[in-house]
Amino acid sequence: MNPENAPEKPPAHSNFIRDIIVEDLKTNKYGGRVHTRFPPEPNGYLHIGHAKSIWLNFGLAAEFGGKTNLRFDDTNPEKEEQEYVDSIKDTVRWLGYDWEDRLFYASDYFPQLYEWAVQLIKAGKAYVCDLSADEVRQYRGTLTEPGKESPYRNRSVEENLDLFARMRAGEFPDGSRTLRAKIDMASPNLNLRDPVMYRILHATHHRTGDQWSIYPMYDFAHGQSDSIERVTHSICTLEFEDHRPLYDWYIEQLGIYHPQQIEFDRLNLTYTLLSKRKLLQLVQEGRVRGWDDPRMPTLSGLRRRGYTPQAIRNFCAAIGVSKTNGIIELGLLEHYVREDLNRRAPRAMAVLRPLKVVIDNYPEGQVEEMEAVNNPEDASAGTRKVPFSRVLYIEQEDFREDPPKQYYRLSPGREVRLRYGYFITARSVVKNAAGEIVEVHCTYDPETRGGNAPDGRKVKSTIHWVSAEHAVEAEVRLYENLFTRPNPNETEPGQDFTANLNPHSLEVLTGCKLEPSLANPAAGDRYQFERLGYFAADPDTAPGKPVFNRTVALRDTWAKIEKRGQEGVRS
Ligand code: ATP
Ligand code: MG
Repeated sequence: MNPENAPEKPPAHSNFIRDIIVEDLKTNKYGGRVHTRFPPEPNGYLHIGHAKSIWLNFGLAAEFGGKTNLRFDDTNPEKEEQEYVDSIKDTVRWLGYDWEDRLFYASDYFPQLYEWAVQLIKAGKAYVCDLSADEVRQYRGTLTEPGKESPYRNRSVEENLDLFARMRAGEFPDGSRTLRAKIDMASPNLNLRDPVMYRILHATHHRTGDQWSIYPMYDFAHGQSDSIERVTHSICTLEFEDHRPLYDWYIEQLGIYHPQQIEFDRLNLTYTLLSKRKLLQLVQEGRVRGWDDPRMPTLSGLRRRGYTPQAIRNFCAAIGVSKTNGIIELGLLEHYVREDLNRRAPRAMAVLRPLKVVIDNYPEGQVEEMEAVNNPEDASAGTRKVPFSRVLYIEQEDFREDPPKQYYRLSPGREVRLRYGYFITARSVVKNAAGEIVEVHCTYDPETRGGNAPDGRKVKSTIHWVSAEHAVEAEVRLYENLFTRPNPNETEPGQDFTANLNPHSLEVLTGCKLEPSLANPAAGDRYQFERLGYFAADPDTAPGKPVFNRTVALRDTWAKIEKRGQEGVRS
């Protein structure tokens, strides 16, 4: 296993679900077993919210020597696809978790679920109902008013068995009938007002093909699947709290092994949507380049962007779980990404918006190999040689002809340090016809090689550079938040969330100049480009033609000063 994927020891810190498990182990409720499952519906790619659930289910079981199943909750053939199954498996593995030989599908249980439905019919606990979906809704009542019983509620067992068998045989059109549990139309819990167990759907399922023309509802499939798999703690998100009485009811009526459902808070993140339906809309409308677009909160998107599985796990451990839904700052996730990349990413020099610098007193044709530290956080990463020559590139923003106050980078007459190189002083500029600076002429002090002056004089700024003759040309993709509002669902009347898409979420820079060691990265290789941020090689990288994604910026102190200045002017 790739070391970055190796799960760290589960955190010793506690949460209420862990407390329940500890208590159950103490009382020997499940014979000392801890068995969880992660149950995605294969109707989209996994997102950062799912990571929280994966971390919780796999992490808790691992801590107590238990097991975790991967189970596809594939009861809705109209929206599910093999492509999603494959990506989900790949993503769970990437996050660092292993279901071993325990890969299951709810669709594997369709025959058993059918038998259980027949069992409930025979016990007088389920009936075939001919009301349409609309009528079922009208009969259900509201939170303040009880529902009305279906006129089909008191069909005989024989008639129900016959009709249900014919539903299965495909005799009836979609939506014409349902199988419903006979519970209580006056229950204060709407989920108990004769919930639908099976619906008729003539659809091709990605695994069972056309075998079935009826499909179980989530509530009739989930608990029983947990039971079949002998899950001990069935951990799900809070919106299922009101479904728990139904989960328990089915299991009790069937008299089968009873797992415990426990609910926790969903992850919500600022500037981010975590709904597969909405993410699918972004993909289908071409608002992003696909499910794995680095702007997407999908785990495949974050992976492509350069996030590490370790950073995501650390984030999950930090936010923990609770019983109330809240919103986490996107900045916190970015913090854990920076923290992890700071430790593991080798440093390199790259110039994104190049400005040519000519060192007039540096010998023509001379090339020196400067020694550069690969990772100050990791001595074992060693050093590398970076070529230095007479013509270099620096960032355009590292030179100002008229430097504002507090700007200490290069400007006429100002001396700065070139990282791992020499002190240089700007002498003059060359402008094009449009008056833009295209070249800065400098002199260097040969005594300052390595970055220090023998006479002890100081410079206030160190800037990065790339030797022009040795530079590798690259495309670099910069990302901002996909949405402009902290809550992307907050819109003006008549708009949908796409109105909040950030038009500047992607900026593509071409002609960027990289140091030669970056010529042939493998897709996924991560670096810190000094002073700029963390970057990961994109799968679009071709030999000698790197494409990098900015994973996350470093905190830029100058941008902050300048912004504060502007705000000062405005107010
Ligand atoms: P979505 O609303 O994005 O479609 P979902 O809940 O329908 O999500 P599932 O595939 O059913 O997606 O989810 C699998 C598991 O992941 C479930 O146990 C679900 O509760 C959990 N999960 C989904 N979204 C989140 C989230 N934002 N935070 C924590 N857990 C989540
Ligand atoms: Mg779901």
